Amino acid sequence: MSTSLSGDDSAAPLRGRFAPSPTGPLHLGSLVTALASWLDMRSRNGEWLVRIDDIDPPREVPGSADTILRQLEAHGLDHDGPVHYQSSRHQAYQAVVDQLLEQGHAFYCSLSRRQLAELGGVHPGPEQAVPPGPDRAIRLRVPERPLCFPDRLQGRYCVDLARTEGPFVIRRRDGLFAYQLASGLDEAALGITEVMRGADLIDSTARQIHVLDCLGLESPGWAHLPVITDRDGNKLSKSRGAAALSQENPSENLRRALACLRMPAPDELRHAPVRELLAWALTHWQPQRLAGEYKHLPADPA
Ligand code: GLU
Repeated sequence: MSTSLSGDDSAAPLRGRFAPSPTGPLHLGSLVTALASWLDMRSRNGEWLVRIDDIDPPREVPGSADTILRQLEAHGLDHDGPVHYQSSRHQAYQAVVDQLLEQGHAFYCSLSRRQLAELGGVHPGPEQAVPPGPDRAIRLRVPERPLCFPDRLQGRYCVDLARTEGPFVIRRRDGLFAYQLASGLDEAALGITEVMRGADLIDSTARQIHVLDCLGLESPGWAHLPVITDRDGNKLSKSRGAAALSQENPSENLRRALACLRMPAPDELRHAPVRELLAWALTHWQPQRLAGEYKHLPADPA
């Protein structure tokens, strides 16, 4: 990694990232996320990194990482430095899992999905720990009190990890590393200062902050965007078959993405090329317009 974890914060640049999983090409919803975090960084002279979250090979669609990178380029969303691939970080993830086990933060678990469902879906805790062995997940203990964090768009947000899921998986029983572990860790390893992404991931944020807390690493700032839904109110997602973006007209895709971000481009830019649209968007970017639009916030227990 090119960045240190302990650099002088006052000198640290703003640094955001877009972190797609290579499970298919970008669709409008993922373009909106990429565009928002790009605008947020570029409008404040920050850096913008791209990280490919390729730690779950069974879910990957061959070739889609390259397709996503080409799509970002076609839409003018340029990134700083090399593209980061989580698949190259297995050793670092394993070292952290070992450390968490050694320090008593994590434990082996052999409960099946069915057994967990019978327990009401909440893992009862480390008293269920089993000795190391094959076909066992590794879970991270969670704090007893709700974990709260400030979100630039959603306000203070709290998740009661102990009561919603209990200790969560950081390494799966098939040996693959969990998103919560890899993502939390990589925000620190890449020196990310601001994560802007869809509010569908806001509950994951508490888990990622907890991973960082256990390791004594600092959390980035967070901003969760309203989720882009289809006409029936379902989140646009690859798994629901959201259409890939048209290749012919990146400007039109950008105009649609800008409209989703409550900043419709003016009529005179109807035929403007990508670069002109982005230049306009940079001077009109006001994320506060999107604040508080995620309606399913739990009541603040604090
Ligand atoms: N790679 C995950 C996704 O595409 C997470 C993205 C993120 O943490 O921003 O949904």
